[in-house]
Amino acid sequence: MLKIVLLSFVLLAPSVLAKFRFDNYTLYKILPKNGQIKLLQNLYEHDSRFDFWTNPGRADFVSVMSSPENKAHLENLLHKNNVQFEITMGNIQEAIDKEPIKRYTRGNLRSMQFDAYYTNSEINAWMDDLAREYSFVTPIIAGRSFEGRQIRGIKISHGSRRKIIFLEGGLHAREWISPATVCYITHQLLTSRDPEIMAAARDFDWYIIPVTNPDGYIWSHDEFRMWRKNRRPVGQHFGVDLNRNWNSNWLVAGSSIDPSTEIYAGPGPFSEPETRTLSAYLRTIGDRIDLYLSFHSFGQLLLVPFGNSTAPYANYHDAVNIGRRAMGALSVRFGTQYVTGNIVEAINYYGTGGTIDWIKEHLKVPLVYCYESRDRGQYGFLLPSDQILPNGQETMDSVVDMIHQARRFGYMTGN
Ligand SMILES: [Zn+2]
Repeated sequence: MLKIVLLSFVLLAPSVLAKFRFDNYTLYKILPKNGQIKLLQNLYEHDSRFDFWTNPGRADFVSVMSSPENKAHLENLLHKNNVQFEITMGNIQEAIDKEPIKRYTRGNLRSMQFDAYYTNSEINAWMDDLAREYSFVTPIIAGRSFEGRQIRGIKISHGSRRKIIFLEGGLHAREWISPATVCYITHQLLTSRDPEIMAAARDFDWYIIPVTNPDGYIWSHDEFRMWRKNRRPVGQHFGVDLNRNWNSNWLVAGSSIDPSTEIYAGPGPFSEPETRTLSAYLRTIGDRIDLYLSFHSFGQLLLVPFGNSTAPYANYHDAVNIGRRAMGALSVRFGTQYVTGNIVEAINYYGTGGTIDWIKEHLKVPLVYCYESRDRGQYGFLLPSDQILPNGQETMDSVVDMIHQARRFGYMTGN
């Protein structure tokens, strides 16, 4: 009892910390040529002064944030090695101040808009309202977080035991476009009059979880905008990278045992409540999942498993073909170009212990993808208002086309 009282005090007490400010922090878009990537990988692995917003491995660009104190060091290093770069944002705090954070009013579904970002509790309130409004929407609890929060979502189901399309977002806290996109897709499934979307909503059971890392997401809103991991304390440090903690080739590549890094894999596979409970939940429905979509940002990539190998698995070529066609559909509305491939091919980077690898390896889900949404390094995690809705719209176009293409290839026909 005392423990519960203390815990709720900690959770409810107003923060004593001031919100961290990113005044004069700079975002660099580095354009390494062949042979120059090693330099950046070295920096990434051994110099925690710089926050890499993308993995250094991607052939065409790497996004890195620097504090004002360390800018000169970074720029000198790049100049000295003839590495081309541009500054895409000179003052990160300015972009943070401009972020469109709107308020959701409980009981008023119309107050949810899709050109803005919302807090964890507002997204939960909106989902509660959806479950009240629509008889075929039910709330689900898919797990719990380190700090004891529920990992919440909804199920859209027009009949019993249909095949499942599973959508989740927000595993990396600072990737705010991810929950926003998942919420937009949900809204479309419930309100669109487009016959293809209405059919998709009817034909499958949709399991939707906008925020799979609620502790981190809340922290990114309240304290530190650039937070990525969960909020487990580890010595002097905080947080495990939840996309390196799944029990699939854990710690094999592109992850770290150093808790000060952004890619700390945790003390062991599934050490974190978020991944452990979510995976347990997924196991209970795994044999019915036809399509699994994980939403991250950024880089405009559609990734398929696996993160440590280019060796194709059984239906790898089908998965890539279906994905490429769906990305063709994504490009129609605004011309946004995505690259499709496995993690190694698409970004020339190894990363294991991730969600989609575990889903493929352990649940044998036929089609598994990870979206890395807009953009390509201009704003990165701080995607502005005028891109939030377009990102949602083009992504919805691609999801509808993905179902269509999957059926042409003989998938998702089993209901
Ligand atoms: Zn991510």
